Amino acid sequence: MIIVLKQHSGQNEIDHVADLVKAKGLEPHIVKGAKQTIIGCIGDTSHVDSKLFEVNALVDRVIHVQEPYKLVNRAFHPDDTIVDVSGVKVGGGNMAYIAGPCSVESFEQVLSIAKDIKAAGANMLRGGAFKPRTSPYSFQGLGVDGLEILCAVKEEVGLPIVSELMSPDHLDIFNEKVDLIQIGARNMQNFDLLKQLGQVNRPILLKRGLNATYEEWMMSAEYIMASGNENVILCERGIRTFETYTRNTLDLQSIPVLHKLSHLPVVIDPSHAGGKWWLVDSMAKASIAAGADGLMVEVHNDPENALCDGAQSLKPDKYIHLLKDVQEIAKIVHRQ
Ligand code: PEP
Ligand code: MN
Repeated sequence: MIIVLKQHSGQNEIDHVADLVKAKGLEPHIVKGAKQTIIGCIGDTSHVDSKLFEVNALVDRVIHVQEPYKLVNRAFHPDDTIVDVSGVKVGGGNMAYIAGPCSVESFEQVLSIAKDIKAAGANMLRGGAFKPRTSPYSFQGLGVDGLEILCAVKEEVGLPIVSELMSPDHLDIFNEKVDLIQIGARNMQNFDLLKQLGQVNRPILLKRGLNATYEEWMMSAEYIMASGNENVILCERGIRTFETYTRNTLDLQSIPVLHKLSHLPVVIDPSHAGGKWWLVDSMAKASIAAGADGLMVEVHNDPENALCDGAQSLKPDKYIHLLKDVQEIAKIVHRQ
């Protein structure tokens, strides 16, 4: 952190600000120019609120030279993190191929989809039991019964399960039954929920908020890691832009940017990004080519009658074709 003082500051004023810096446990390093003086703050600034310096009339502005996220930061952990989801490795060249319906509707529905996606090469089964719906009149999910269905299908098919946790009230049951706990876009900044995730020994799939910057997204991952759970996978699912033709806009740049800034794996959800099934194929392939560590794709055996997100769901035969192509692309970009 660098504090730029107002032009023509006198020695008393410089000393005063330097004392404020010392009071925060930092060492001031003073550099005097012809008109302007700057004070470099040496030490761990992560706990210091820079706004407190900016309110001071002697200070012109404060410049940050360090990111506010630490545990998430690649600078502190140069190697790719590999997250283990009940034996399925994700990151560092290991791919997550997560697929399944938006919502769990029945045992037969999930079983049929699970068998198809497993045969296609998927290594995790997704299904929403608690659904964050825009309208309170829309299908809200089967709740705990939906989790029981996922578990029963897991018994039969053997794929680890991924499902969205919306409330801390369900922390224990998710910890018991769900292999990869999803935190949805709408809860990305539900800080109380994020802080509770240190209490679970399951890895977390953290989706990007609808209008979250990279830094806000990583700060949410930082909450989870700081609470004691270091197994976090980031999931880009499209962001809000001025475009209304598509449901959201898939931010492909997030893949190289997040890989540069962080060591956490980055998975892409092209289904919620475009909101249209025919956009999934091209965006999924582009994501893998751009270096994503996997995909989360909505697949439904009867999209026309799906209770949620049928328009963006692939039929199983389309998913089989997609995964074949994707696995070829993954090889070209040196992934398994
Ligand atoms: C989902 O994956 O089912 C979902 C609701 O996604 P998002 O939180 O990205 O909208
Ligand atoms: Mn959905």
